[in-house]
Amino acid sequence: MSRPARAMIDLGAIRHNYLLAKALAPGTRAVAIVKADAYGHGAIPVARTLAGVADAFGVACLEEAAQLRDAGIQTPILLLEGPFEPAELPDIDALSLTSVIHTAEQIHWILDARPARKLHTWLKMDSGMHRVGLDPADYRDAYNRLARCPHVGDIVLMTHFARADELQCDSTARQLTCFSEHTAGLPAPRSLANSAAVMAWPDTHGDWTRPGIMLYGATPLPPQHPAGTDLRPAMHLQSALISIRELAAGEPIGYGARFICERPTRVGVVALGYADGYPRHARDGTPLAVNGEVTRLIGRVSMDMLTVDLTDMPAARIGDPVELWGPTIPANHVAAASDTIAYQLFTGVSRRVPLHYRSP
Ligand SMILES: *Cc1c(COP(=O)(O)O)cnc(C)c1O
Repeated sequence: MSRPARAMIDLGAIRHNYLLAKALAPGTRAVAIVKADAYGHGAIPVARTLAGVADAFGVACLEEAAQLRDAGIQTPILLLEGPFEPAELPDIDALSLTSVIHTAEQIHWILDARPARKLHTWLKMDSGMHRVGLDPADYRDAYNRLARCPHVGDIVLMTHFARADELQCDSTARQLTCFSEHTAGLPAPRSLANSAAVMAWPDTHGDWTRPGIMLYGATPLPPQHPAGTDLRPAMHLQSALISIRELAAGEPIGYGARFICERPTRVGVVALGYADGYPRHARDGTPLAVNGEVTRLIGRVSMDMLTVDLTDMPAARIGDPVELWGPTIPANHVAAASDTIAYQLFTGVSRRVPLHYRSP
């Protein structure tokens, strides 16, 4: 018998969520963001599932783009940070990739290149996040230099939001104003919206959206926001009970004796731990499901195992399935109990965990 830890990936859910992102921003095109191995869901199967419907894919680097091209994906691919050095430009040209351009140096590299095909670019403005992007004051000039260059093809005007998940905050509106003012009159399509903006800030939809986390079925918005209710979770991280023990009140469980039984306690041991990507900092009480029924984590998470409270589940047996997150337990709930976000949980699922696919 093999170790029961695995992640079931529902490709139909990803397709559904992509179409939902399109429906939320009618008339726009959408870059399906599949960086970081499609947020841990497997870039190639995800891209193959979306290849017929997605307008483009977004990845973080040339290696991620090449992996998709090698798998036969012909959809446009956007490099979200553009080239890291000019030596990447021949491959960008050969693989027919579109580059974000966010520094003056990258503009020089593009202008100095001698590509066989026109280079398509997305010119990124720093409208307030202050991570990457050109200063608004330099943006129009940068656009004009690219637009005049005979080997530059399409140019999309782009920016990225720092706080689109905070619905009461005026940061997104201020970034939108900054971007609109400094792109006024430029004859090119616009792209601003990540998942949170697709779901909550319709004024930012522009011509191209860039949904990421929502494709995988986790909402970036507060849980009560209605736009999240139609998302379908794509990853079901599961394992099984490998031991069941009866402990007396007052007995400790696991490393550091973090949890002390408050009552006679039936403890289940699950074959999945932090080396699989489950957060070691998950607190006592973090929800998980045994046989589809919700219970709680008790005791510190170990490398290969974690412990759950089965006291109110007398029927639970060794071998019974345990859901860490998925259809019953939203990844956001586990994230909240671990001081992190679903993005980190998904991308942190380790190579030890086999991914199994359910086709649409
Ligand atoms: C990762 C990324 C996105 C997707 O963000 P989500 O919050 O996952 O929707 C969009 N745009 C850029 C530039 C990104 O790097």
